[in-house]
Amino acid sequence: MAEKMLQFVRLQQRQPDKRDAGERRADWEEVYRPFAQEAAATQASRCSQCGVPFCQVHCPLNNNIPDWLKLTAEGRLEEAYEIAAATNTFPEICGRVCPQDRLCEGNCVIEKGFDSVTIGAVEKYITDTAWERGWVKPPKPAMERGQSVGIIGAGPAGMAAAERLRVMGYQVTVYDRHDRAGGLMIYGIPNFKLEKDVVLRRQKQYEDGGIEFSLNVAVGRDVTLGELRNKHDAVLVATGVYKARDIANPGAELPGVVAALDYLIAANRKGLGDAVPEFEGGALNAEGRHVVVVGGGDTAMDCVRTAVRQGAASVTCLYRRDKANMPGSMREVKNAEEEGVIFEWLAAPEAFLGGTAVEAVRAQRMHLGLPDATGRQQVEPIAGALFDLKADLVIKALGFDPEDLPAAFGEPELGVTRWGTLKVDHRTMMTALPGVFAAGDIVRGASLVVWGIRDGRDAADQIHAYIQARAECPAIAAE
Ligand SMILES: Cc1cc2nc3c(=O)[nH]c(=O)nc-3n(C[C@H](O)[C@H](O)[C@H](O)COP(=O)(O)OP(=O)(O)OC[C@H]3O[C@@H](n4cnc5c(N)ncnc54)[C@H](O)[C@@H]3O)c2cc1C
Ligand code: SF4
Repeated sequence: MAEKMLQFVRLQQRQPDKRDAGERRADWEEVYRPFAQEAAATQASRCSQCGVPFCQVHCPLNNNIPDWLKLTAEGRLEEAYEIAAATNTFPEICGRVCPQDRLCEGNCVIEKGFDSVTIGAVEKYITDTAWERGWVKPPKPAMERGQSVGIIGAGPAGMAAAERLRVMGYQVTVYDRHDRAGGLMIYGIPNFKLEKDVVLRRQKQYEDGGIEFSLNVAVGRDVTLGELRNKHDAVLVATGVYKARDIANPGAELPGVVAALDYLIAANRKGLGDAVPEFEGGALNAEGRHVVVVGGGDTAMDCVRTAVRQGAASVTCLYRRDKANMPGSMREVKNAEEEGVIFEWLAAPEAFLGGTAVEAVRAQRMHLGLPDATGRQQVEPIAGALFDLKADLVIKALGFDPEDLPAAFGEPELGVTRWGTLKVDHRTMMTALPGVFAAGDIVRGASLVVWGIRDGRDAADQIHAYIQARAECPAIAAE
C-alpha cells in the first residue's frame, strides 16, 4: 500500500491496461480493464497535493480531487467515495466518459514534466468499488416535502437534478420520450465506452429512492407543458439537442446515407436486447459493408468504432480539417486507429454517388487557409483534387442543434437564443415562463455529460430556492 503522496518523482503514470485491439473489435465490452486496488492506490499516490489544485478548477464539478486521491492512496476507499460523490452524481460515469485530457488531467501540474495523475481511472475505480461493496445507496430524504417537481428528460442533467431534489424531500417525476432513462448515456454513447448496466443501475436506485419515471411520454405529444406546470410546483426542461446537422450535397437522399444518432440508437438498442427492424433489415447494420463516416467529433468516433464491431468490410472517417484540429478526443481517435479505422484527413464530401442506393462518396481534398476572426484556420478546397471512396453505408455525424422547443411544446413564450437553445436567466436558470427551469445541452448546446450533471445539480438548487421563496411568501406565490 502506498503511504506517501508526491510519488510522481518516482512512479510513472500507468493508465489501466487497454484490451488488445483485435479482442476489442470482436466484442462490445469496455476498452479498459479495471484497476486493481494496488494499482489505483499507487497511481493516486502520484498526486502532488497542490495548494491550488488546477485539476479541481478545471473539473466542471470542481471535484475535490486531491482529497479523494490521498484517501485512495491510503486505502480509505469508503471515505474517498463519499468525497467523490459529494460533488458528482455519477462519478463512475465521468471516470469513463469525460475527456480528461481537456479537463482535470490536462490541467494537472505534474503534466508539465511528468505524465498527469490518472484522475478519471481512479474516480471510476473508487465508485465501481463503492457499487460492489454496497456503499451506493438510493437517494434518502431526511424529510418529505409536499411539493413536486416535473423533470422533462432523463439524461444526465435531468437525472442529476432529480436525485438532488429527491434528497431534499421533493416528490419528483421524470418524463422521457424514450423507454429507458439515461438520455444519450443510454442510447448515444456506445457500450464499449460506457456499459449500459452502469447507467441502468442508477435508474433502478432512483426508483428505489422514490423518484417516479414516466417513460414513453413525449412532452408536446402525449402531455403538454401547460399540464405539467399545473401538476407540479416547478418544471425542469432537460431535453438535450437532437436536430442532426445535415449535408446538402447531391445524392444525400440516397438509401444508405443515414444519420449518426439513428445508427447509434439502433446499435445500442440491439445491444440491450431490443427488436430493431431497421437493424435486422440491414439498413442500420454495417456488417460486410464499406462504411464512410463524415465528421470529426466524438459522435463520428463512436460511429466508426461501432461499425468496426459490427463487422464492416472497411471503415473510413472523412474529416475536412487535419488531425490536430479535430474536435473529437485524441484518446478516442487513437482507439479508433488501433481498431483499424482509416482516416482521410483534410477531405470533405462533394457528392454521394449511386443508382438505387449509395455506392461511393466523391470527396474533395482540402487545405487549411488563413485564420478567421475566431483565430481558427479556414478550410479551403484544392482545385481539381477529387477522389472517390467505395461506400455502401454513409453515416452523417456533423453535430446537433436544438429542436424547436417553443413549437414542439406549443409555448411561443419560451424564449430561445439565436442558436435555438433555451434562453434562461443564468443566475436562476429559469426560462421566460415562471417556474419553468432549463439545464443541460438544451441551454448550453451539444456539450458533455459532466456539464449536464453540473447544470442539473445547479438547477435543483435554484428550483429549491424558488419553491421555498413561494412557500414562505404568499405575495410571491400569488404572482
Ligand atoms: C454519440 C454521442 C457520444 C457522446 N459521447 C460523449 C462522451 O464520450 N463524453 C461526454 O462527456 N459526452 C458525450 N456526449 C455528449 C453527452 O452525451 C451530452 O452532452 C449529454 O448527454 C447531455 O445531457 P442532457 O441531459 O442535457 O441531454 P440528453 O442526454 O440528450 O438527454 C435528454 C433526454 O430528454 C429526452 N427528451 C427530449 N425531448 C423530449 C420530450 N419532448 N419529451 C420527453 N423527453 C424528451 C430525450 O429522450 C433524452 O432522454 C456524446 C453525445 C453523443 C451524441
Ligand atoms: S468529473 Fe470529469 S473532469 Fe471532473 S475529475 Fe472526474 S473525470 Fe475529471
